[in-house]
Amino acid sequence: MKPTKLPTSRSLDGTGGNLHADPAVAARQFSFALLWRGILKQCPQCGVGPLLTAYLQPEPCCSHCGEDFRHISADDGPAWLTLLVVGHAVVPLMILLGRDATISPWIAILILALVTLIGVYFVLPRAKGAFIALIWMTGATGQDMFVADQDSTDKPTDR
Ligand SMILES: [Zn+2]
Repeated sequence: MKPTKLPTSRSLDGTGGNLHADPAVAARQFSFALLWRGILKQCPQCGVGPLLTAYLQPEPCCSHCGEDFRHISADDGPAWLTLLVVGHAVVPLMILLGRDATISPWIAILILALVTLIGVYFVLPRAKGAFIALIWMTGATGQDMFVADQDSTDKPTDR
């Protein structure tokens, strides 16, 4: 796949100023193509470098384009998304197996456990890639909130 470059700067308000501190972040727009790169566990910037090492360890920087991902933390978002996706497959299967009197409860438990384990194994790293790509696109790292809190506590008051 040929790497694509994103525009490096774009004014959001037409006056040359950016709403974000980092102009490269402000230049990014939400795109399903970029999100898909994250789901494929590829760098959202170039689509070539791997986003994760081993099973779930995020790469600090892209090995191909050098994009920095150290400021991005997906936290428990991938686990939540995995539960949402896998749960929608397991719960109907649970109801189906529970209503069938010909299937032994132990066989049903075994089938549900296998579907859950395989589903989580497949979905969790892709959900993590999707969250990293989404945070990278939007710049919603949450770090600016802490800076704003710090600024408000540092300012001297008139009282
Ligand atoms: Zn890259």
